[in-house]
Amino acid sequence: MAECIECGAEVETSEDAEEGEIIECPECGVELEIISVEPLELALAPEEEEDWGE
Ligand SMILES: [Zn+2]
Repeated sequence: MAECIECGAEVETSEDAEEGEIIECPECGVELEIISVEPLELALAPEEEEDWGE
């Protein structure tokens, strides 16, 4: 288990979680990237910027 850095909710991670995996917080829906497995660390996944064009 890890803690959502956005809302503090517990986020379930699979046992075979890998670095770089993106998981979604069930509480606030934010996307979290696993930046480290041992110890488990999460970071906000980089948001894709909308390209509005000209
Ligand atoms: Zn959350």
